[in-house]
Amino acid sequence: INYQLAKFVASFGKASQIPLSTCPEVTFAGRSNVGKSSIMNKLFGRKNLVKVSNTPGKTANINLFEADGIHFIDLPGYGYAQRSKAERSRWAGLIADFFALERSFNLVVALVDIRHDPSALDHQMIEFLQHNELHFVVALTKADKLNRSQQARQRASISSQIDVDPADIITTSARSGTGIDVLKERIAQACL
Ligand code: GDP
Repeated sequence: INYQLAKFVASFGKASQIPLSTCPEVTFAGRSNVGKSSIMNKLFGRKNLVKVSNTPGKTANINLFEADGIHFIDLPGYGYAQRSKAERSRWAGLIADFFALERSFNLVVALVDIRHDPSALDHQMIEFLQHNELHFVVALTKADKLNRSQQARQRASISSQIDVDPADIITTSARSGTGIDVLKERIAQACL
């Protein structure tokens, strides 16, 4: 997959507006501030293609990118504390509608901050993916913020809290590039 070819396609406020899948799709989900935009930018080898998302007051949309015949879907981040109840319920509706669509769903990348125990919403997301039998990997983000032994300890701790095959948990860092090669491998396996 030539990630250099990545481009922004469109932004959608409603799942029903997204055109039907015409190619393999990789979807990114995680709480706001988990490092989703940074990981996607790192994947694309671009600084700012995926804008830093979920700034307060900004409407959360589903953003569609395309690279070399693969769709990359950026779901709005969840769990932003300052969001109103109405915004939170809009978010939940958007995600539920999105996954209810008849789409390719080749791979979902569920992002979880390596420094923290998975939140209730992280658990919900992972359980939702399992329940709907969606093919996913968990990317632990911001690994550069921990040293090697802390990374191993947190990885083991998070693994024990979620019911996911350790082979499907990838330690990553958008800063250092850790795990990006593994993520690319998994994307290629799921899409090509
Ligand atoms: P998003 O809301 O999930 O899209 O998160 P962003 O990608 O905008 O990142 C949120 C914050 O975490 C920003 O200040 C980033 O600079 C920082 N960040 C993201 N990824 C990393 C990483 O791999 N390492 C470090 N040290 N900081 C990161």
